[in-house]
Amino acid sequence: MGCIFCNITEKKIPAKIIYEDDLVIAFEDVNPQAPVHTLVIPKKHISTNLELKKEDNGLLGHMFQVANRIAKDKGIAERGFRLVMNCNPESGQTVFHIHLHILGGRHMHWPPG
Ligand code: 5GP
Ligand code: ZN
Repeated sequence: MGCIFCNITEKKIPAKIIYEDDLVIAFEDVNPQAPVHTLVIPKKHISTNLELKKEDNGLLGHMFQVANRIAKDKGIAERGFRLVMNCNPESGQTVFHIHLHILGGRHMHWPPG
């Protein structure tokens, strides 16, 4: 209800979807922070990683498998890339439907800002 990523999953809001299966979709971030900035989200609504249940373990593994495939396809896997999942406001989470950021194509700084 009113979740922007649920709306993208249900195709009520357009997005540049680059991968989709029964469990997840991946689409390009609307405000990219790196040359590659893709989001992998579960189709199921989960507001933060704190809400993950044991039954979601396979889903999480699948999200990482999909992210790895995208990183390889986009040619950033060997150079290096970052997978990020923010949790709650102080981390910078703004959309409360979990998503794995795939960031790459430039040098990543550490510590993050
Ligand atoms: P967070 O800050 O919650 O970790 O990340 C949310 C991300 O979703 C941000 O990088 C933001 O640019 C992206 N985003 C927010 N709204 C939309 C949208 O409507 N479409 C797309 N493609 N990305 C979005
Ligand atoms: Zn949602």
